[in-house]
Amino acid sequence: METLKQIIRDIPDFPKPGVLFKDITPLLGDPVQFTKVVDHLKERYTGKKIDHVVGIEARGFIFAATLAYALGAGCVIVRKPGKLPYKTFKQTYDLEYGSDAVEIHQDALKEGERVVVIDDVLATGGTMAATVDLIRGNFKAEIVEAAFIIELEFLHGRDKLKDLPMYSLIQF
Ligand code: AMP
Repeated sequence: METLKQIIRDIPDFPKPGVLFKDITPLLGDPVQFTKVVDHLKERYTGKKIDHVVGIEARGFIFAATLAYALGAGCVIVRKPGKLPYKTFKQTYDLEYGSDAVEIHQDALKEGERVVVIDDVLATGGTMAATVDLIRGNFKAEIVEAAFIIELEFLHGRDKLKDLPMYSLIQF
């Protein structure tokens, strides 16, 4: 995990002043480390009867697709508004200034299915909380766990998701 931590690149003031952006592209580009991450997640969820891995736009897609393939599960995508072509359910959430939303296709999940939801970074938790509301509010699927590659602990994102099992590989 230490090597993994070191390979994450800090980009100050991106995409706006005051944000220290955790750039995962060096991790994605490293054959050994990327494989290690996917294998680690595979090991964690093997035997848990996961039907779908749900990935959050955009970097969550990378891990959702690879983990789904590794588990022999399906991959579901949660996107920003207006990007999905079929009928969607939508969940809005508050940002520091204004609001944003996430959408999912109406036929993405079925009753009783077990899912893992994944994103690259847990920051304030707003995006994951909205995604969890989106799933729980519209489907009778069970969220087994929310998984992240990186958790920014000082932002206390977990507090927004108290009733949800959560897992992160690396903490800052
Ligand atoms: P939040 O809703 O605050 O938990 O933000 C989570 C989303 O924003 C994730 O999809 C991340 O990809 C992205 N994000 C937020 N903060 C950062 C950061 N410091 N570095 C990289 N990505 C971030």
